[in-house]
Amino acid sequence: MLEVSNVSKSYYNGRQTKKALNGIDLTVSKGEVVGLVGESGCGKSTLARVVMQLELADSGSIAFNGKLVTRKSRKSFYQANQLIFQNASAALNPSWTVREILLEPLRLMKGDREAYIRRMLGRVKLSETHLHRYPSQLSGGEQQRVNLLRSLLVEPDLLICDEIVSNLDRLTQREIIDLLLELNREMDMSILFIAHDLQAVMYACDRIYVMKDGRVVDESAKTDGVFHFSHCYARQLFDSVLGNRMRE
Ligand code: ADP
Ligand code: MG
Repeated sequence: MLEVSNVSKSYYNGRQTKKALNGIDLTVSKGEVVGLVGESGCGKSTLARVVMQLELADSGSIAFNGKLVTRKSRKSFYQANQLIFQNASAALNPSWTVREILLEPLRLMKGDREAYIRRMLGRVKLSETHLHRYPSQLSGGEQQRVNLLRSLLVEPDLLICDEIVSNLDRLTQREIIDLLLELNREMDMSILFIAHDLQAVMYACDRIYVMKDGRVVDESAKTDGVFHFSHCYARQLFDSVLGNRMRE
């Protein structure tokens, strides 16, 4: 469904050029939950932005459902794809109530938008009492649920989650991930789950890409509940969390 081919992107910081992405190949199939892990600074967020066309790649291509995503075609791409970020409180307008925040992406929707929102609230385990609150009156987990719901309202085919559980405690992380997995099953929504936290990624994903210094250095699908990595860097990363996994 999503096919990233040989994508590169450099930044020039005034003195030198830094290759943030160096020939990235990556795919996400329909209904798949794919992980992307790697140390801070390896290029994960850059890839998310480039896939979402918030920035242009220097070279390479991005295709969605077999069609190249271009500046012209990106409008329909946006309808099918949503990106959510780590920092939920920064993503939510502090002077709007939850109700106003959720109505905004539905501007163009015909029919009863309020009823639709009330129906969808339950999906992310929020209630109608949350509608009248401001983001500052919500917990971190609740803020991330609102953020998530806002992206779900347009029923995306693919949801890209960039470090969305990184600021949350383990229990809340687990709740949000379980929620994502439920949505994945019920709505057949594909997920690209980006994190530096290996435990969360191993728990959430069917298949994982490992990034280092702008390159994908390894890839593994889960077989019998276990990932098999061949590259020594990936092995090191994963060995360091063995025996300390999130319990199923
Ligand atoms: P990650 O999300 O894996 O932590 P990023 O994609 O944010 O990594 O960053 C990858 C590299 O690209 C880093 O070295 C970062 O400093 C650099 N970078 C990212 N965005 C920019 C930008 N807008 N301008 C200059 N350099 C950037
Ligand atoms: Mg990042």
